[in-house]
Amino acid sequence: MLDFYLRSYIEDLRWTLGEFDAGVLQRIITALERARSDGRQVLLIGNGGSAATASHMACDMGKGTADLKDPAFARLRVVSLADNNALMTAIGNDISFDDVFVEQLKIVMRDGDVVIAISASGNSPNLVKGVEYAKSRGAETIGLLGFGGGRLARMVDHPLVVSSRNYGISEDIHLVVMHIFTQYLRRVFAGPARPVAFVDRDGVINRRPAPHTYVQGWEQFTFLDHARPLLRGLRAGGYDIVVITNQQGVGKGLLSLATLAGIHSEMTRSLAADGIPIAGVFACPHLEQDGCFCRKPRPGLIHRAVNELNFMIDLPRSVLIGDSDSDIEAGKAVGLRTLRIQDPDAAPTGGALDVAQILAALA
Ligand SMILES: [Mg+2]
Ligand SMILES: [Zn+2]
Repeated sequence: MLDFYLRSYIEDLRWTLGEFDAGVLQRIITALERARSDGRQVLLIGNGGSAATASHMACDMGKGTADLKDPAFARLRVVSLADNNALMTAIGNDISFDDVFVEQLKIVMRDGDVVIAISASGNSPNLVKGVEYAKSRGAETIGLLGFGGGRLARMVDHPLVVSSRNYGISEDIHLVVMHIFTQYLRRVFAGPARPVAFVDRDGVINRRPAPHTYVQGWEQFTFLDHARPLLRGLRAGGYDIVVITNQQGVGKGLLSLATLAGIHSEMTRSLAADGIPIAGVFACPHLEQDGCFCRKPRPGLIHRAVNELNFMIDLPRSVLIGDSDSDIEAGKAVGLRTLRIQDPDAAPTGGALDVAQILAALA
C-alpha cells in the first residue's frame, strides 16, 4: 500500500514540477531584482503551511541572498506578515480574520512595494483582501498558488500556478520555486557570471594506473605532464576550474567514497600549493547499470556543480575538456562548448599534448 502511495505522490510531484512556467519565474526574479535596486520592500502573506513558507522565504530571501561579511552589501528588504501572533490575533479579534493581512499592509506597506501572496487554494479571503489593497496602492503583486490558481491567479501581476489540488504537492512546489529564486538571486547579487572550465579527471589531469583500471588511493595518483600547464593556463584565461569525473570503481567496491574524497582533497591541495585553485570536484560513484543522472554522458555532474558552486556560471563562455566521447556528450547535452583532447597514454604515437594550442583554441 505504502509503495503505491509513495510512487503516486512522487510521480505526481515530478510531473507537476515539470509544468511550471519559466517565463513567470523570470518575471518574478526581475521584479525582486528591481525591488532590491530601488530599495522597495517585499511583503509576504499566507495562511497555515503557506504562512510557514512565508517565514522560510523571508529568511532565505533576506539573509540567504546577502553577503553577510560586507556591511555595505545592499540587502533585499523582505518581511513576512504571517509572523506576528500578537498583531494577527489583535486584528482577528477586533475586526475579522479576513483583515489580518490588509490591516498589516496598511501599517508597513509603501506605495510600489512588492507583495507575494502564497496560497494552495488561491481563494483565501484574507489574501484576496490583502492583494486588492496592495494593488490599490500600486504594489507589484506575485502569487505562489495551487489548485489551478483560484481567484488570486486572476488578480496578481505574476501568478505562478501549480495545477495539483493536493495541498502537500502545491506547498512542496512553492518551497522548490522559492529556493530556486532565492538561490538564483544570491548568485546574481554576488557579482558577474564567471566562465568555468569543466575538466575530466582520468586521462586529462592524471594517469590511469593501467588501461581500464581505477586510481584506488592517493599513492596511485600521478599527474600527467601537461596537467599543471593546462590548468594554470585555464586559470590565466579567467576560468574557474571544476573537475567532473566518473568513478565507477566506487560502485564496484574497489574504493570507498571516503577514499575517493581523500584522493580529491589531496589533488586539490597539491594543485593549490602550485597556485592552481580548484573550485570544486564532482564525482559519480555509480555503476553504469544504476541509470543515475550523473554518470557521463549524462550531464548530472554539471547540474550538481551549478547548484553547489556559490557563483553564477557564465555558460556561453564556459567549456568542457575531456578525453572521451562520454565527456563531450555530457557537455553538449547542456549546450557547453567542448574540447576533446587525447590522453597521451592512450595516444597511438604517445605524443605530448600541445597545451599552447589548446589554450589558443579557447581564446
Ligand atoms: Mg577521462
Ligand atoms: Zn551517478
